[in-house]
Amino acid sequence: MRLTIVGSSGSMSGPQSAASCYLVQAEGPDGEGASRTWSVVLDLGSGAFGALLRHLDPAELDAVVLSHLHADHVVDMSGLEVYRRYHPAGALGPVRVLGPAGTPERIGALTMEDDLSALDASFAFTEHEAGRVVEVGPLRLEVFPVNHPVPAFGVRVSGPAEDGARQVTLAYSGDTDSCDGLVAAARDVELFLCEAAFQEGRDSVRDIHLTGRRAGEAATQAAARSLVLTHLPPWTDAEVVRAEAAEAYGGPIELAVPGATWIL
Ligand SMILES: [Zn+2]
Repeated sequence: MRLTIVGSSGSMSGPQSAASCYLVQAEGPDGEGASRTWSVVLDLGSGAFGALLRHLDPAELDAVVLSHLHADHVVDMSGLEVYRRYHPAGALGPVRVLGPAGTPERIGALTMEDDLSALDASFAFTEHEAGRVVEVGPLRLEVFPVNHPVPAFGVRVSGPAEDGARQVTLAYSGDTDSCDGLVAAARDVELFLCEAAFQEGRDSVRDIHLTGRRAGEAATQAAARSLVLTHLPPWTDAEVVRAEAAEAYGGPIELAVPGATWIL
């Protein structure tokens, strides 16, 4: 299983990065006796569709998982809809979209589509349900409610290690402040991709985002094997946030930057 950062800028696109988008891929049976690459995208925020084109043909996408419906996590679903519906080689058919309640309406608003059934040509929607495992090829996806001003979910993804010899797991926080769901999502994972949009001493409002320190605390509570910090807004010094996290977490800490890949 491998993780590629497509976009990691927090709350808006930035000069070096699109907003939230992460590509998770694994090799698995294609159902016809052969093996192929299965590809799932976590969030598709501002500017991320273009960046995604650097990594795969969206025709080969197997599922999109939306952590929540804030603009910086979903607006480029409009680009994906056009790509699938109006591709010059012919419509690509529906791709699975897993999201919170209201996902079809949210995407319909983006595409100015009054008749939501028109989206069925491009998307097959599944509403998030905590505690249920959704399988996409060899990948097992589970969502956990987290702490944000709108319904939001952390995502836990398990799948075959790159050598195929064992199962590995990663977790993605989505947007959240500290909460039990976040720790449950990240319990014992090999890699914890965690937002750290806020900074200690600067952002005092609660129940929206994590600081670097609170991301580190969650990683420690979850016994995550490694921490990758993401969703840093353009106005934030990444090294300040990384240092905060290091005060609360003793494992390896890295920063999510576009194009970075982790092979698990
Ligand atoms: Zn948000």
